[in-house]
Amino acid sequence: MSTRSAVNPKFFIFTWGCQMNEDDSEQIASRLLQMGCSPAKVPEEADIVLLVTCSVRRKPEEKVRSKLGQLRAVKANRPNMVIGVCGCMAQRIGEDLKKSFPFIDFLAGTAQVHRVPELIQEVQSTRKFTSALELDKKVHPRAAHVGSPLKAFVPVMYGCDNFCAYCIVPHVRGRERSRSIEDIAAEVRQLAESGTKEVILVGQNVNSYGATLDPPVDFADLLTVVNDIEGIERIRFTTSHPKDLSDRLILAMRNLDKVCEHIHLPVQSGDDEILRAMNRRYTIEHYKERVSALREAVPGIAITTDLLVGFPGETEKHFENTLRLVEEIRFDSAFMFAFNPIPGTAAARMSEQVPEPVKKNRLKRLIDLQNRVTCEINISQVGQVQEVLVEGVSPKDPHRLTGLTKNNKTVNFPGSADQIGKLINVRLTEAHLYGFVGEVLSEVASGSEAYNGC
Ligand code: SF4
Repeated sequence: MSTRSAVNPKFFIFTWGCQMNEDDSEQIASRLLQMGCSPAKVPEEADIVLLVTCSVRRKPEEKVRSKLGQLRAVKANRPNMVIGVCGCMAQRIGEDLKKSFPFIDFLAGTAQVHRVPELIQEVQSTRKFTSALELDKKVHPRAAHVGSPLKAFVPVMYGCDNFCAYCIVPHVRGRERSRSIEDIAAEVRQLAESGTKEVILVGQNVNSYGATLDPPVDFADLLTVVNDIEGIERIRFTTSHPKDLSDRLILAMRNLDKVCEHIHLPVQSGDDEILRAMNRRYTIEHYKERVSALREAVPGIAITTDLLVGFPGETEKHFENTLRLVEEIRFDSAFMFAFNPIPGTAAARMSEQVPEPVKKNRLKRLIDLQNRVTCEINISQVGQVQEVLVEGVSPKDPHRLTGLTKNNKTVNFPGSADQIGKLINVRLTEAHLYGFVGEVLSEVASGSEAYNGC
């Protein structure tokens, strides 16, 4: 049994969930590096193990419990190891987790991840459990990004005011608050100076960005400022709420050359009655009109979505409306889920829960349909030349490079290591469900437009 107290402690971070959690983990890592810690290759070698958790669905919560079960034995062998649970599960059920896994040393809620180093030091000096779970409304200063990332997530706002009936986010991440344009622009400028080419502006609902600032600004204003930052070649953003997608934002997407031709616009259901029950506050007619406006303003734009089947009260007729919408809109791809009630949300209290076998069957039918549509769209794009930002070697084939087109499609192609980090024109030669195989045509001169023909 080792009881050593590390001089230069090693840390290991597990992350589940959305880009906001990815960013939280990176922020924690950055702060720990500043404290003189270094990353461990495996949790068994770490002095500090952190779990950045997600409560949006049942599965990630189950994974966290299972991981904590495995860590029980590791910690028994290394009693000085500090184990912290951060993020949504700490916020939602932290006290219960502590009862089930008494070896947890600290809890850090969603608004308190900046305090993780302080909580670790407190545990190390007192050897007592501690927690920070206040859901304050502040926007805390950020740590520097780790390394020189080719593409980087930049949070522009935190929390959400929408209270969709199935969603725990407003309960665990608190009310909506935005960072100032100046603060975000300074971070993006720093990223550009260290070699970042693509920024992904993230928030639970970026379409309502800036509404809480004084004076209020909007997301189109922010995009315009970021578009002017030298060195940044591409701008993406997520997530958009259909009810808040303004004409002004669509115009900005059309006019700003660095904004990629892709939008993730979660529709969730193709039926107005279910959308009302979900508290989504738009109709299918409104959604279709927004999609038409986007396609008219930004030709070739890829539209992806989230779809939730088996929401309480969903009948076969409601579900068929979702299938019809998928046929009609022809999303480039979709994240598809069967509804699972999350305690604390309005939907968990609703009667008329849909039986599991029915949900499973509907999900399978939906996935089959969407996969067919995705394949048809991808096949129709074979022969096109697309600009690809080369991200690295394909994880599935060491002889190929991989990157994303401006409309967010993965392309694998033969190439050389010196092309990594560059913008390359690639002809799409083969279509698959998850993207394309291609061949390199030319490097894109910085600031020039890619040839987009067939
Ligand atoms: S918009 Fe709805 S689904 Fe998205 S985070 Fe807010 S409450 Fe959740």
